[in-house]
Amino acid sequence: METDTISAISTPLGEGAIAIVRLSGPEALEYANQMFRGKDLLEVDTHTIHYGKLVDPETDELVEEVMVSVMRAPKTFTREDIVEINCHGGMVSVNRVLELVLAQGARLAEPGEFTKRAFLNGRIDLSQAEAVMDLIRAKTDRAMNVALKQMDGRLSNLIQNLRQQLLETLAQVEVNIDYPEYDDVEEMTNELMIENTKHVHDEIERILQTAKQGKILREGLGTAIVGRPNVGKSSLMNSLVHENKAIVTEIPGTTRDVIEEYVNVRGVPLRLIDTAGIRETEDLVEKIGVERSRQVLQEADLILLVLNYGDELTEEDKKLFEAVHDMDVIVIVNKTDLPQKLDLEELNRVAGDHPLVNTSLIEEKGIDQLEESISDIFFEGDIDTGDMTYVSNVRHVQLLKQAKDALKDATNGMEAGMPIDLVQIDVTRTWELLGEIVGDTVNESLIDQLFSQFCLGK
Ligand code: GDP
Ligand code: ZN
Repeated sequence: METDTISAISTPLGEGAIAIVRLSGPEALEYANQMFRGKDLLEVDTHTIHYGKLVDPETDELVEEVMVSVMRAPKTFTREDIVEINCHGGMVSVNRVLELVLAQGARLAEPGEFTKRAFLNGRIDLSQAEAVMDLIRAKTDRAMNVALKQMDGRLSNLIQNLRQQLLETLAQVEVNIDYPEYDDVEEMTNELMIENTKHVHDEIERILQTAKQGKILREGLGTAIVGRPNVGKSSLMNSLVHENKAIVTEIPGTTRDVIEEYVNVRGVPLRLIDTAGIRETEDLVEKIGVERSRQVLQEADLILLVLNYGDELTEEDKKLFEAVHDMDVIVIVNKTDLPQKLDLEELNRVAGDHPLVNTSLIEEKGIDQLEESISDIFFEGDIDTGDMTYVSNVRHVQLLKQAKDALKDATNGMEAGMPIDLVQIDVTRTWELLGEIVGDTVNESLIDQLFSQFCLGK
């Protein structure tokens, strides 16, 4: 396979004192060596790091003092020779280093091209490559763990295991058809097929059940705080933001989007919707009924509906309840430090099944219970979620659904007495669909499209 040598800046932009220019490909060592004054990089051991000076080989002008890591194929991320030039002079100097590397003959890497090479060279499979992207975008520790596990091959193993079961079933059916030693071979083959495909079908269903949580971990639980003016919406938002600063763990070599309006409640990333509106206008309730606020509500996965304990339930409150009645809602009865005017019986009637939490934000009471309530809604009673494998990727979810449908067709077909070779087609199709998740059976344009969504330098 003919490959060139690629290069890009692969550290967080504008972050930290050290920046890395990474080269990958057959000429990586040679290009770096042309610019490096220190040890002969072509002679050094693999996986070693060297101090020296970087010069412009045309003029011998000094550019930077650098540390250079040399990693020879195949034990590298891309399975190609990799050189990483660590510069400490900030963005201006790192750009200058990149320019020089390109002048030696390297090509500027496309977004995701390092990861794409890792995939094409068999170092990682497609779902693992996608996990690299998730890792870059992860907003909480828990989301990061999900991505790390996927990168580790957890999902891949699950999927490959299911594919193996389907393959064995297909093989067994072949054998039965080719060597019918018993009279009731047809019935046996049918039974075997039904049992095995049902099993795989259930497994897929189980994996799909994690998709809702996976999506939330990836994108955040869209959360809207609603309520009449003055009930305490801003206060609520402030205490959520103050107590649960979004996590900004840096992973070396990754770029992160600016973290904005995310709060981390017991591992659940809340994406606060339209918080600017709450801060500035104070009149969200007036906007209820207005098209825009409907949209805000539609976008939300969770509604925090705030009421005033020191006030009677008003028509506006009831309208709010109506607007959100079929959504996930937590009702927050705030200002419990005030004398009670709220009719609790009436409230219970209006609130229906939605959980109620009492708070006095001014006295900082009730936040713990609210957080508990939020985490309950998210984890839906799962106790140990730390070890779960989630599917979080839309593409994976779609493929799993298609695979599940294909298996359902197969089972229905068998039960309706469809000939076995038609059933085999459905089962084979399922095997292929699952293969697309890990990248065994995908086409080139899809691969290009997937990797183009990556950040530069990955
Ligand atoms: P918003 O209009 O819904 O955003 O309400 P704010 O958060 O701006 O609060 C309105 C007023 O109620 C402010 O003066 C707050 O200090 C006050 N407030 C908020 N929470 C409480 C509470 O628990 N008890 C009392 N007594 N006052 C509160
Ligand atoms: Zn306010």
